[in-house]
Amino acid sequence: MRIDVVTLFPEMFQSFLDGSLLGTAQKAGLLDIRLSNIRDFAVGTHRQVDDRPYGGGPGMLLMPGPVVECVESLLTKKDCSETAVPSTSIAMLTPSGQPLTQQILEEFATRRRIILLCGRYEGFDQRICDTLKPELISVGNYVLSGGEVAAMVIIDAVARLIPGVLGDSLSAVDDSFSGTDRLIEGPQYTRPREFRGLQVPEVLLSGDHQRIADWRKMQAVTATQKQTYYCQDN
Ligand code: SAM
Repeated sequence: MRIDVVTLFPEMFQSFLDGSLLGTAQKAGLLDIRLSNIRDFAVGTHRQVDDRPYGGGPGMLLMPGPVVECVESLLTKKDCSETAVPSTSIAMLTPSGQPLTQQILEEFATRRRIILLCGRYEGFDQRICDTLKPELISVGNYVLSGGEVAAMVIIDAVARLIPGVLGDSLSAVDDSFSGTDRLIEGPQYTRPREFRGLQVPEVLLSGDHQRIADWRKMQAVTATQKQTYYCQDN
């Protein structure tokens, strides 16, 4: 799978992409992640990429030209064809987007290529959206300074879903929000059996696989109900 990141700050991604899981996945050819700098498509001596909003208001907006031209430089003829099944998806990171879920990430993981658009300052000129018609994605109901951290969230979470990235011993199938029931994982324990007077639940030491599975399921249901309650409350 190929992921292109369109950003004003490509240097923010370097250590993130070289890190263990993503670095290994790229070396193994499972992921091809490329960074494009919006400023490379700016014109003029100051290579301006942002300007004040029409109608007034605080801050600066990303101008349409450099962002659209940067994305177009990444698209092939086939990507632009209206009749062909699109082989490339464009996702714009924005607080006004659809809230990111494991289901959306699973969908992304099936695609051949995704282009992630990272905003900065007060965000994007609306005509970037009107021209590129991206999917709008939010990583939560709060405001980040830029789309780069949101793009890293997507890259990290999608990478886990690509077959081979997690290796044989680990599987995303059992993770929270996954599988058919999408339950959240309950509490887990490792050694020692006792830590500062806190014991590992007896059932986990019983060796009784059915009892352990039942206990885990019950804990997962409780954790999921608690989280649903937090979400409703907010
Ligand atoms: N003025 C915008 C607003 O009020 O919605 C906020 C712009 S924010 C400071 C700059 C950029 O950070 C956005 O264009 C977007 O790319 C990114 N960003 C901020 N919060 C985000 C979120 N919750 N999800 C995804 N991207 C976000």
